[in-house]
Amino acid sequence: SATPYPVEAPASTALFDRAQALTPGGVNSPVRAFQSVGGAPRFMVRGEGPYLVDADGRRYVDLVGSWGPLIHGHAHPAVVDAVQTAAAAGTSFGTPTEAEIELAAEIVERTPVSQVRLVNSGTEATMSAIRLARAATGRSKVVKFAGCYHGHVDALLAAAGSGVATLSLPGSPGVTDATTAETIVLPYNDLAAVTAAFAEHGTEIAAVITEAAAGNMGVVPPRDGFNTELARLAHAHGALLILDEVMTGFRVSRSGWHGLDPVDGDLWTFGKVMGGGLPAAGFGGRAELMAQLAPAGPVYQAGTLSGNPVACAAGLASLRLADADAYRRLDEAATTVSKLASAALAGAGVPHRVSAAGNLFSIFFTETEVRDYDTARTQDTAAFAGFFHAMLGQGIYLPPSAYEAWFVSTALDDDALEQLAGALPVAAQAAARA
Ligand code: PMP
Repeated sequence: SATPYPVEAPASTALFDRAQALTPGGVNSPVRAFQSVGGAPRFMVRGEGPYLVDADGRRYVDLVGSWGPLIHGHAHPAVVDAVQTAAAAGTSFGTPTEAEIELAAEIVERTPVSQVRLVNSGTEATMSAIRLARAATGRSKVVKFAGCYHGHVDALLAAAGSGVATLSLPGSPGVTDATTAETIVLPYNDLAAVTAAFAEHGTEIAAVITEAAAGNMGVVPPRDGFNTELARLAHAHGALLILDEVMTGFRVSRSGWHGLDPVDGDLWTFGKVMGGGLPAAGFGGRAELMAQLAPAGPVYQAGTLSGNPVACAAGLASLRLADADAYRRLDEAATTVSKLASAALAGAGVPHRVSAAGNLFSIFFTETEVRDYDTARTQDTAAFAGFFHAMLGQGIYLPPSAYEAWFVSTALDDDALEQLAGALPVAAQAAARA
């Protein structure tokens, strides 16, 4: 039968059929399912440098990078070697290990935090940071911004980005009214709204949580001074500021967004890059605040696999590769890719906006200037879907949603960029027709 997609993927399609029988929607994280762009998700079997290889044996230039962790591309020899060495010595001990100290030291050296607690996912990091903020302030309310995603923490699923935005969900069933009643959702980049919320609820707000630069409604940088003013307002009312650097941390600079726009925050959350492609994340802040966590203090937080030695080895190897030259190359790759894409779209007359926060960027298929979730949602998602499938058919793997960042890596070499440059004008024509 006729397919609306340029290329068939029989092996992936067969795997997807099997997966759907065994797993809800056939995937273990919603945005992987290609639901908003259509077609069968590609099942990958291998990654090598800038490329992914799928079950049908097709090779793709990868602009997802496992949704952020892989700043050095796939299967970097130093990371693979560190993982193999650590795994050969045992995969988990349930005791402290020196690798945890080394990873913590690397994080503390790079970022504003003086202590860090390691966890397994960004979700755990933000969930635990919020618990700590509530305990430290003795207050219950949390301010978050529409379109920001902080993982699938109940209280933070209100008006969230990422898969929640991709699937146009208002939030999630199963999150109680009592939980969301403690969450105040405000428009991103809107200081007047934050000022008003503090005026009304100032004594009840434990924390403001914000993505250091928003990357889950597409990329929307904070306006100049936005994060600084959040810190000032929070502190003026006895609340804490939590900067979520799960996506930006160790990617947009050696520390993260903090390296580009330092702010007097209280807690920071990290993930993705610091795990080198294995499950590791963390949250941190000043020592006297972190000392409230068990066993030093009363705020409970724990994990069977937290600080896992294989994950710590992968993260440490990745961070040690992430020197000034690596960040220069990431910045350069982001500029090259975004300029090529924008030129191709302009050439085909497709309305679009490149939106960047350091080397994190996305392309909005809209003429409207994007500053928050409402303006992000002015995009033409059908045009994006046409563009996406035309790229996929030419061997370029973009995030399968118009609401996700494009992730570059230092592995994007001249060959990969040449393939990308050749594919973009064809895909831009497809977007114009969609
Ligand atoms: N915070 C931000 C800013 C994120 O981008 C993400 C994941 N995309 C998370 C938190 C949640 O991290 P995880 O998926 O590891 O739970």
